[in-house]
Amino acid sequence: MTRPDKPFPWRCTDCGKTAIEPDVIDHTSMIKYDGRLHEVRIPNLHILRCRNCGGILFGNEADEQIARALRDKLHLLQPEQIRENRTHESIRLKQSEFARKIGVAAESLSRWENGHIIQSRGHDRFMRAFFALPELRAFLDRLEEQPDLGAQVGRIMLNLAETRPGWLEQAPSHEPQWTRAEQFHLRSLDRGDSAQPPGGPFPDLSLAG
Ligand SMILES: [Zn+2]
Repeated sequence: MTRPDKPFPWRCTDCGKTAIEPDVIDHTSMIKYDGRLHEVRIPNLHILRCRNCGGILFGNEADEQIARALRDKLHLLQPEQIRENRTHESIRLKQSEFARKIGVAAESLSRWENGHIIQSRGHDRFMRAFFALPELRAFLDRLEEQPDLGAQVGRIMLNLAETRPGWLEQAPSHEPQWTRAEQFHLRSLDRGDSAQPPGGPFPDLSLAG
């Protein structure tokens, strides 16, 4: 009944008639995420329906539509956003490399990117920080060499600038367009007494979009 290559109509296992065809319905789902139920309405959900008994089947397409609508409602990264950011020219990581850097199983990342599983809120936020902040990416590189980083509260970013000359300047040369988050961080660094990175002043942020 669910063989995707077989032409419609399919045989219904409930009533026995060969009467199942694709249909589109206005549907509202209740989905649990972060320990509570969320109402998600999909006005054009693609389902399968039996013309004879009225039975409805949700196929892969419906599942994908529902998951996409939930991510949209909860402001979670969509699968293609994770994939496109991971492969962006200023990041360029293989799935296995990105998974290792953010500390998740490669299989988990693969499922987030193909849409089969929705990432947790915590993972979503960490990925956003990773994509938005070159300094976090540099921190995680550093963490692989120095696993005690972050075990104590401190001004880790300034330590990074001091102990790894050049890491901060790499970003402007690769990314002339600073994101809003990067500008904010650089301005806040600029106000610090010892925050000047080695090797020269910050770029002229007033030129950034
Ligand atoms: Zn039927």
